[in-house]
Amino acid sequence: MLISSPYILYSDGEGNIFEDTSLYATGRSGWDALPVPADEWIELPTGGNLYELPGRKGIGIDVETGEMRLCEKGWAVAAFIPPAHTGLYMAAYETEKDAPTLPLFCYTAAAWLDEKIYVPAVRIEKDIRQEAEGYFEEVIEAGTKHLLEAYPHNRLVKHLMENCCMTYTCPAARNLAIGRWECPVPVSPACNANCIGCISFQPEEETIISTQDRLTFKPSAEEIVEFTVPHLETAPFPLISFGQGCEGEPLLMWETIREAIIEIRKHTQKGSININTNGSMPKAVKALCEVGLNSIRVSTNSARKNIYTSYYLPNNYDFEDLVESLKTVRSYGGWTSINYFVFPGMTDSIEEYEALRKLIKETDLCMIQWRNFNIDPDWYLGKIGVADTGECMGVKQMMELIREEFPNLKFGYFNPSMERIKGNFEVDFAH
Ligand code: SF4
Repeated sequence: MLISSPYILYSDGEGNIFEDTSLYATGRSGWDALPVPADEWIELPTGGNLYELPGRKGIGIDVETGEMRLCEKGWAVAAFIPPAHTGLYMAAYETEKDAPTLPLFCYTAAAWLDEKIYVPAVRIEKDIRQEAEGYFEEVIEAGTKHLLEAYPHNRLVKHLMENCCMTYTCPAARNLAIGRWECPVPVSPACNANCIGCISFQPEEETIISTQDRLTFKPSAEEIVEFTVPHLETAPFPLISFGQGCEGEPLLMWETIREAIIEIRKHTQKGSININTNGSMPKAVKALCEVGLNSIRVSTNSARKNIYTSYYLPNNYDFEDLVESLKTVRSYGGWTSINYFVFPGMTDSIEEYEALRKLIKETDLCMIQWRNFNIDPDWYLGKIGVADTGECMGVKQMMELIREEFPNLKFGYFNPSMERIKGNFEVDFAH
């Protein structure tokens, strides 16, 4: 825990970052810049990056006067914190009129003290599956080569290895190449939602681009089964997950997924079969549970229907459908998570807290994956029309209140393996 407040960072606009010791750093919540409690700063974890924010001036607290003022020395700086960590405050800055919209990354506050970089964040997940230190290029390249040679006619393996693993450096696809843990299975070129911050498709008129291109073909059940059965059979803590960042909505391909699950379970009972989804089609979810789907992760920016709808812009489904999908999987004894996009100032508002409590109770939810929202904060709040986020309690305090009220509810960042679902959830991954 820090004893004194760290100092603000700024950049010279050419990628060089400096500290300004005349200003203590602040954090952003909604539209407000706030002091960050000393015990909420941690050192920037390995794998984190710093970003300079063009056309933005950082907001700090003058070390002499205690007044808030802008850092006029350069552009504001933010941190991209690595997976398994949840940001508690965003970078606080004032945006100039012609500033470009920021790309689809998370912008956590960042500060400097005693030669170290600090961020207001918590490690929310023990699982080490996406630790930066755990990826070795030569092992990944050998694994990629092996899979491409083993499945020369499999379009999905080709997509996962050439695009996801070797181009986008997707941690899930890299784990597949290494033959461990969670195997990604993208299946859908289309989606029935129009999320403002969609990472696989951005409309022409938007100035930002999607971080990866959406899948362009519909894999067959045979293509899915061919490489997922060996993965489930041989990988440590094995699971496969339909629904990845490089596709649309997997439930639109439920018949193919159903066929694949039936075939997979003819060959192996090992591991967990999970689907990451927007939860839009509860009847399709029911059909998948009947053939052995083990777990579901439903993505959402909010537990409030109006905030959800103004971001997801759903086609022919609504918020109640994702609630029904969560309930359906529980009714079959399956594991349910929400992929909860954390946005300080929205997530920790009193209204959101009450809505989340209701959702947890109504769906008998098993887990919250507290994910950092990868989006330009001004752009997001502007697009969903939120001028005032209302009273907020702080993300850390909200987590503590939820943990206290729902002691069986798990917190994390990744889909759990069957070993964690059925066994010791707090399993020690280091050994
Ligand atoms: S549900 Fe997923 S794929 Fe569909 S628009 Fe939203 S982010 Fe994009």
